[in-house]
Amino acid sequence: MTIRRTKIVATLGPASSNPEVIEQLILAGMDVARLNFSHGEADDHRERARLVRELSAKHGRFVAIMGDLQGPKIRIARFREGSVTLSAGQPFTLSNSHPPEEGDSSIVGIDYPSLVQDCKPGDELLLDDGRVVLVVDAVEEHAVHTTVTVGGPLSNNKGINRRGGGISAPSLTDKDKEDIKLAAELQMDYVAVSFPRYGSDIQQARKLVQEAGSKAWIVAKIERAEAVADDRALDAIIKVSDAVMVARGDLGVEVGDARLVGIQKRIIQHARTLNKLVITATQMMESMVSSPMPTRAEVSDVANAVLDYTDAVMLSAESASGNYPVQAVTAMARVCLGAEQEPTTTRSGHRLGETFNRCDETIALASMYAANHFPGVKAIISLTESGHTPLIMSRIRSGVPIYCYTRHPGTQRRAAMFRGVYTVPFDAAKIDPAAVSDHAIEKLTERGLLKKGDWVILTKGDFYSNSGGTNGMKILKVR
Ligand code: PGA
Ligand code: MN
Repeated sequence: MTIRRTKIVATLGPASSNPEVIEQLILAGMDVARLNFSHGEADDHRERARLVRELSAKHGRFVAIMGDLQGPKIRIARFREGSVTLSAGQPFTLSNSHPPEEGDSSIVGIDYPSLVQDCKPGDELLLDDGRVVLVVDAVEEHAVHTTVTVGGPLSNNKGINRRGGGISAPSLTDKDKEDIKLAAELQMDYVAVSFPRYGSDIQQARKLVQEAGSKAWIVAKIERAEAVADDRALDAIIKVSDAVMVARGDLGVEVGDARLVGIQKRIIQHARTLNKLVITATQMMESMVSSPMPTRAEVSDVANAVLDYTDAVMLSAESASGNYPVQAVTAMARVCLGAEQEPTTTRSGHRLGETFNRCDETIALASMYAANHFPGVKAIISLTESGHTPLIMSRIRSGVPIYCYTRHPGTQRRAAMFRGVYTVPFDAAKIDPAAVSDHAIEKLTERGLLKKGDWVILTKGDFYSNSGGTNGMKILKVR
């Protein structure tokens, strides 16, 4: 039996809020449900979180929940007619004094006053993820006057980015601070921070998350040009996060779509080297919003992220508002499995020539070296509190499944995002110490995942209640 190693994040929205669809998404392979705070009311998110928890438990599945903060997305206000069509060459004004409901084809309001200070003549502004492009001609106290260079339809509340980045909005808004409290209330497993500029934005978010009483891991969405300006800036954000998201929608607008693929590969590689998780996101199967089949280009996009060893691939509109949410998860699962057949996805360079920093990290990496070089090894079992040891293990390419054995519901769900890691609920402290290994192995033999004669690697700490305490590794033969 081949088990998919790359994980699937699916955004829940109007197309995926009823119990039937959520249940089918879980059965089709959703590992992480993303609740997007940019849309919907608190009660919508409460209901979706409740359904995910209830229906995953019904099927004995572990599904993490990720709350995605809206962040300081700058948007235009609204048009009198709901939308306009702009043509190349025409003048168009963005104004923070224009009435918000009164936009037309010459002027529209903006909800972010300091856009005016952040712009200068010659800057390019991209609206609606770059579908409409404006060049700034002149800046006044309350308005930015531009000429349209790429025209097209423009409707209410579309986002604005500046080519090259450099818009100064702080990354956590008042709404984000409220949503962090909601994430804590719903015991979300991950909280994603939108548009962080520096590591300090992530540290501030982490502080608020902890103050709200949440144990969520923090995901930094890499979507500003500044965050990828050089390797130092990128690594500074990665190091203070638990996971990063290659947020290709906004990032592609800021750095230009042609740079995006190379940058995506660099982000994935840096995150893994720094022992962090990485999600590849946005437009992965965009045509499946209205079609039951992905295009070759989309299949190729997902497969390439898998070959680059992303932990997870993500669906946005495809699962949140498209016509084929379940088919999109099914297609993604199929493509991940197919790409994982390629031998390079299981061959590791093993960090030769590197120095390790921690005891548990050393055990984790030594276990992977052993697993990849001793052909009889069919499973790695990590008895863990926080999930840190299986996280480090899964930074190494391998074809051997890593089982995260833990008693903590939070860790059980969180590990669902780690590539090649699968959760087994297990409370070692409740078992006679001499029988722990046998019990642990039995959990896999009874599911048909191990058979007599297979080898197993098991890691644990001397005291089961210490997080970061993994200090032992055993090699065991299934009897
Ligand atoms: P968003 O983030 O969907 O919240 O904009 C992802 C992205 O920008 O790609
Ligand atoms: Mn974004």
